[in-house]
Amino acid sequence: MSRIDEIKKRRTFAIISHPDAGKTTLTEKFLLYGGAINQAGSVKGKATAKHAVSDWMDIEKERGISVTSSVLQFEYGGCCINILDTPGHQDFSEDTYRTLMAADSAVMVIDASKGVEAQTRKLFKVCAMRHIPVFTFINKMDREARDIFDLLDEIEKELGIPTCPVNWPIGSGKQFAGVYDRKSQKIDLFEDTMKGTKMGTMKEIALDDPEISNYVTDEAREVLEEEIELLDGASAEFDQELVDAGELSPVFFGSALMNFGVENFLNYFLKMTSSPLPRTSDQGTIDPIEEKDFSAFVFKIQANMNKAHRDRIAFMRICSGEFEAGMDAFHVQGDKKVRLSQPQQMMASERKMIDKAYAGDIIGIFDPGIFSIGDTITTSPKKFAYEGIPTFAPEHFARVRQVNTMKRKQFIKGINEIAQEGAIQIFQEFNTGMEEVIVGVVGTLQFDVLNYRLQHEYNVEIRLEKLPYEYIRWIENTEIDLENLRGTSDMKKIKDLKGRPLLLFINSWSVGMTLERNEGLVLSEFGKA
Ligand code: GDP
Repeated sequence: MSRIDEIKKRRTFAIISHPDAGKTTLTEKFLLYGGAINQAGSVKGKATAKHAVSDWMDIEKERGISVTSSVLQFEYGGCCINILDTPGHQDFSEDTYRTLMAADSAVMVIDASKGVEAQTRKLFKVCAMRHIPVFTFINKMDREARDIFDLLDEIEKELGIPTCPVNWPIGSGKQFAGVYDRKSQKIDLFEDTMKGTKMGTMKEIALDDPEISNYVTDEAREVLEEEIELLDGASAEFDQELVDAGELSPVFFGSALMNFGVENFLNYFLKMTSSPLPRTSDQGTIDPIEEKDFSAFVFKIQANMNKAHRDRIAFMRICSGEFEAGMDAFHVQGDKKVRLSQPQQMMASERKMIDKAYAGDIIGIFDPGIFSIGDTITTSPKKFAYEGIPTFAPEHFARVRQVNTMKRKQFIKGINEIAQEGAIQIFQEFNTGMEEVIVGVVGTLQFDVLNYRLQHEYNVEIRLEKLPYEYIRWIENTEIDLENLRGTSDMKKIKDLKGRPLLLFINSWSVGMTLERNEGLVLSEFGKA
């Protein structure tokens, strides 16, 4: 198969959701269709299958969670699918956000009884910033759902994206009868798939087929007809261009657990989503098809996979060309030639070595400590650099103190190296230097990781004193008079390692208040790369 065909068949996306909405279950069902696993369920067992793949850090073993994220690749319907694993639950971290930088689209899973939840909101914001297509899967229809119109309204109001239902549910919970496909005007009937362990044989029936009364009550049919009429009048029409621009989200209903609506969703999704997209570089847009040379950017660095050698793996997203194991390429930021060795990829639930990969794929490369997040690697003589990855707002802060101040040097080295890998962000008091270090993290697990790593890798013991701040904002217009900023009583001024000023707040309303009090002040939730 030619390079172009290989790239065109690729679909690289992330699944975003709030914990427990059903991301893992949906992923399992996708893999089932891809034939990557024989029976859905083997991805789950977070303590078993997934664990076996990524027991790279002791802390993962101790807690049975995965601190690392990876990618699952499988073939389905003529496509080569890469699902980026976005860590959730307790392991939610800046890596979760960064992973979205490597995706071409996102599937947003929403629990039909809960609607838009905190983590969905945060992850959606990153997708919106990148203007990537977002597809909504409203899950758990086999349970009592909230009013569907309300749910869609909530998505539109809270996330600011219009929705376009591709299908429509008939009841929910015990009354759930299936979904009506608005295009084919047929109903896919819901049947038990033994908790989704077998692929549902899909039974389809036209809305006006007299046989329908065997499956759907008259009352449910009438409600459906009314709702469809309402929908045809009220909802946005499907528009592929708006979907591509991330300005319209196609919506699907189903039950991941019961394996209902999953294959249908996957088929639509693969048609509506695109193959690898062009990316912005300092030399203009790089198109994955037109640019023949290999190029990739680093979006995640996983440290200490092998404790004996303090080595790291740099995960990169290939943006153009073809990768071959052991090839030489140019590391733009390091201004050096590098050999890309020990390439790895995740297949379902095992890690394996690979020798070829294409634009759209994610590979993990052995990193002797030279790569940083956002770096570009390419064989193109143009030596372009991809747009950097922004810094995402941490939500937990702590002051870090050393127990033994004699080890100052190791402490500074350790904390800087860990920050360089992107596991934590470090800040300082606005008017002083490194004697006071403030650490910010996206998920609190990172505090434990920091503690653990400083102790085990740098032999430094620390004490963390949690700070009450939850909101951080970068000051975009640094020409503003910082000394005379009129903030709120809960506001704290700090700076990052590059000396850029930031503000910390305890309350969210203080952010708005501070903006109001200081005309011309521009605050941002993302730090420029
Ligand atoms: P994640 O945290 O988003 O990965 O969610 P999981 O996939 O682990 O699912 C959380 C819980 O919801 C598990 O107990 C699943 O069995 C259950 N679940 C997932 N999808 C469905 C569904 O469609 N219907 C029902 N009733 N339960 C579901």
